[in-house]
Amino acid sequence: MLYLTQPENLEALFPNEPPFRTRQLREWLYEHPVLATEEMTSLPSTLRTELADRLWPFVLEVEQSADAGMTRKWLFRTPDGAAIEAVLMGYARRTTLCISSQVGCALGCTFCATGQFGFERHLEAGEIVAQVAFAQAFLAGGGMKGCPSRITNIVFMGMGEPLANYARVRESIRRMIEHMGISARAITVSTVGVVPGMRRLAAEPWQVNLAVSLHAAEDALRTTLVPLNKRYPLEQVEAAAAEFFTAKHRRVSIEWTMIDGVNDSDVQAAKLAAIARRLHAHVNLIALNPTPLTPDRPARRARIEGFLGVLRREGVNATLRDTRGSDIDAACGQLRARSAGQ
Ligand code: SF4
Repeated sequence: MLYLTQPENLEALFPNEPPFRTRQLREWLYEHPVLATEEMTSLPSTLRTELADRLWPFVLEVEQSADAGMTRKWLFRTPDGAAIEAVLMGYARRTTLCISSQVGCALGCTFCATGQFGFERHLEAGEIVAQVAFAQAFLAGGGMKGCPSRITNIVFMGMGEPLANYARVRESIRRMIEHMGISARAITVSTVGVVPGMRRLAAEPWQVNLAVSLHAAEDALRTTLVPLNKRYPLEQVEAAAAEFFTAKHRRVSIEWTMIDGVNDSDVQAAKLAAIARRLHAHVNLIALNPTPLTPDRPARRARIEGFLGVLRREGVNATLRDTRGSDIDAACGQLRARSAGQ
């Protein structure tokens, strides 16, 4: 599969082709991705036919559309049966692609559909970057109207904990930046607090963004929602986020899934505000996207407003994210759960 080979090593796959051919192929794979090799017009037709089944490391199994076509959710299936989810969201001036870094997840956050499944395997760098190339090809081919025809933002917020798959995620980011022309500033890596990974990311040469999913502002509550908190408690997560801010001069964002009656109180808001102020962080609230697998429900609208009010009174920059695609299993892991018949 072409994306499973490092772009620098493509030559080795085609020992009988002149070097300029692999250069052309690399451009089609990374700079101007297309959905089918037939569209690689600068390549000879024999080669296009030969490559037809080797372009994507997965097949598109399910495509769902919502929000008048401005949200697309894809479930890809790899030859070994692994399911990969990606969601593309189009807006007037930007397009955000949410990608997966693992199949399943070992961290078991209680409110998360992916977490309920357990861990299956890491995604390869090529499987991660192919999600980006697919979405780029889809947009360039006019698949979504009323938004830019290129991806403007990439968030590692799909299935899996990206910093638990560090080397492959790193390689995928490198390819995006060095071969796809995507700015590091357009890429956000989201973590539930894998402290060693946060430190490594802070030491990388790229100005990527870091989003830390806190969901609770005291250890006892956080450990019930995010079991990893036992290993890396809040104090350590905050210290690693502060290190990232100091190293990159990039504002960290704090993600907070609002769960009815669990973490939506004014007391939690005040404690969160204190952490956000210390980190100079922006807070993104998102109402829980309910899954059939857990009894948790999204916080009520009035409660979310109250929570936002506390944050803002405390001088914290905070926004409520829209829950795109709530009618199409858009929370990570949901489409996979349904496809598996659960
Ligand atoms: S929220 Fe993220 S880290 Fe937690 S179980 Fe789900 S995918 Fe894993």
